[in-house]
Amino acid sequence: MKNRTLAIIKPDAVRAGHSGKILDRIIQENFTILGLKQTWMSLEKAQGFYEVHMGKPFFEELTIFMSSGPCILLALEKESAIDAWREVIGATDPQKADAGTIREEFANNMGENAVHGSDSVENGAKEIEFFFSNSE
Ligand code: ADP
Ligand code: MG
Repeated sequence: MKNRTLAIIKPDAVRAGHSGKILDRIIQENFTILGLKQTWMSLEKAQGFYEVHMGKPFFEELTIFMSSGPCILLALEKESAIDAWREVIGATDPQKADAGTIREEFANNMGENAVHGSDSVENGAKEIEFFFSNSE
């Protein structure tokens, strides 16, 4: 069944000039782009987005990083988009990411790891709603 994931090209990848290659990969992998925009999120917005990680040792570093520059937000749809996108991006830790994954190719470390993907169908819908209005 088709479902939806939020994807984010994180500030490290935008800064390094990898956006074009990552967007190309998204198109090659046959995701339908329902929404796409660039944003520079505030610290408060980043804290809201990563609320589930509040209290973890990396929370402060993560939210400062996510609000450190522009990122690109995408709402993607495909057959099993959640699983398909997580397969394309690879493991959270780029050292453990499979060859050919986006994180293996572009991520710097566990924190600055180039891209985001939703982890469930329910969270995919919630995260898209967090950043996009219906008209977008
Ligand atoms: P994923 O993005 O693969 O779903 P998580 O949901 O576990 O990973 O974590 C969210 C984000 O928090 C990661 O993508 C990464 O940027 C950051 N992060 C996770 N674990 C760590 C860690 N141990 N040290 C630093 N940053 C981390
Ligand atoms: Mg996650």
